[in-house]
Amino acid sequence: MGSTAQELERRLGVRAIDDPAILRLYSREPSGLEGDAMAVVFPESVEDLSRIAAYAYKREIYLYPQGSSSDLVGGAVPERRGLIVSMERMNRILGISLGDTIVDTQPGVRLGDLNIVLAEKGYMFPVDPGSVSIATVGGAINSGAGGLRGAKYGVMRDWVLGLTIVLPDSEGTVLRIGCRTLKCRQGYDLVRLIVGSEGTLALVGEATLRITPLPENVVTGLGFYEDLVSLAETVVRIKESGVQPLVMEFMDEKTARIAASVVGSRIPVEGHMLLVGIDVNHEATDRYAEWLEKVMREMGAKSVYIAKTTREAEEKRLYEIRRNLFPAQVAKALRERRGASRIMAYMEDISVPPTKVPEAVVKLRELEERLGLETFLGGHIGDGNLHPAVAYVEGQPGIGERVEEWYMEVMRIAVELGGTVSSEHGIGKLKKDALKMELEARGSAKALDIMKGIKRVFDPKGILNPGKVVDPE
Ligand SMILES: Cc1cc2nc3c(=O)[nH]c(=O)nc-3n(C[C@H](O)[C@H](O)[C@H](O)COP(=O)(O)OP(=O)(O)OC[C@H]3O[C@@H](n4cnc5c(N)ncnc54)[C@H](O)[C@@H]3O)c2cc1C
Repeated sequence: MGSTAQELERRLGVRAIDDPAILRLYSREPSGLEGDAMAVVFPESVEDLSRIAAYAYKREIYLYPQGSSSDLVGGAVPERRGLIVSMERMNRILGISLGDTIVDTQPGVRLGDLNIVLAEKGYMFPVDPGSVSIATVGGAINSGAGGLRGAKYGVMRDWVLGLTIVLPDSEGTVLRIGCRTLKCRQGYDLVRLIVGSEGTLALVGEATLRITPLPENVVTGLGFYEDLVSLAETVVRIKESGVQPLVMEFMDEKTARIAASVVGSRIPVEGHMLLVGIDVNHEATDRYAEWLEKVMREMGAKSVYIAKTTREAEEKRLYEIRRNLFPAQVAKALRERRGASRIMAYMEDISVPPTKVPEAVVKLRELEERLGLETFLGGHIGDGNLHPAVAYVEGQPGIGERVEEWYMEVMRIAVELGGTVSSEHGIGKLKKDALKMELEARGSAKALDIMKGIKRVFDPKGILNPGKVVDPE
């Protein structure tokens, strides 16, 4: 152990690591972004967080709260040299009250693990990002995560009732904000301000989350379409019919093919893929199964696979292609350009109003052609949240500029169609210019000044996750 880690352990009473090889692992994220940290510290309690915050404040050391570092916008990557605050030891579920429909947890609990425990009691925490097996409660709160069930259950801000937060000040002040009740008026809503704040305002030490009963049953339909616009129109038709599915996901054909081959799927990918899951009670199962198949076929699906129960959907492996959306692209890039030393992958996270999805799909294809960058398309189509992506080998002449142009253009398309540049991953270090562009396009540039002011109030020395979301100057 180096002297930095020893010093931190002595002063803070928490485990610390400064081994350069381990630091590298904690300093990067799946998109390929990397930073540079002086050490990682591993608090186990709110009191530990408070000591870390006060210590960092007095010495003006940057702090980078981190769950699993999977947010894809560099949110937990150390932008300037400082301490990574890993939440991996704050991984206890503190209590579940079915009567109050809440769960209290530490921030390092993984959403997948939380749901395994809740499922035993017939309940779930409904926000389920594709990364659910690694995404932590604290990371999901701070990135304002959504997921496959977003069209029905919304995003983190709809499910966080209360938080224990630690401020980056001389005392490491601990605040308990929000309530343990669904209805709660505490003046300005500080809980909602922290949700989605990407670790730039406070350290989240504990959370009180709403939970909801598991659906009685889910009818699933997996359809393959020749035409992406017909697929998008199927989604609009389902929504207009008054049915509100639990899941509505899509992938374009080439992405679905790669994902299917990576997971060894037995389902033949015969076009662009739409996955719809409708939560129903047992009595309504047959009716919804027939209806879903009929709608998919009428709207142009060439092949449709239906599962009448959750178990049948698992047995037929209807969800596995979609669950492999992101690694699919990287795997393809790796395979095709074997020998390449460094693959970069960028996944976008735009939303457009669901009725604008067909138009967005056409514009994204035009952009792909214009820039000559192979684009992979997929996302949570039910709420208009699209994740177009590119994966490429670094070092090709002009590639960096083209990817940057693609990245900004995708977001411009979203804003032009009345959508937004970031839906669930956050702003991080990658989307600060895009946030400005979106606010300016709405004639609301002043909102950025308000955000900078909020940052200064919470974090007067600017030590918490600097370089992310806004630069307060
Ligand atoms: C394959 C794949 C699929 C994905 N699918 C989805 C999806 O469907 N929906 C979705 O929303 N996202 C998705 N993501 C992005 C990401 O996984 C989620 O946003 C996830 O919730 C982030 O959790 P994390 O623990 O990795 O957070 P991190 O990346 O570690 O942190 C996210 C942000 O929160 C801050 N933070 C973390 N913990 C704390 C804390 N305790 N206190 C204060 N700040 C904190 C960090 O500084 C950072 O700014 C996906 C990512 C991958 C790789």
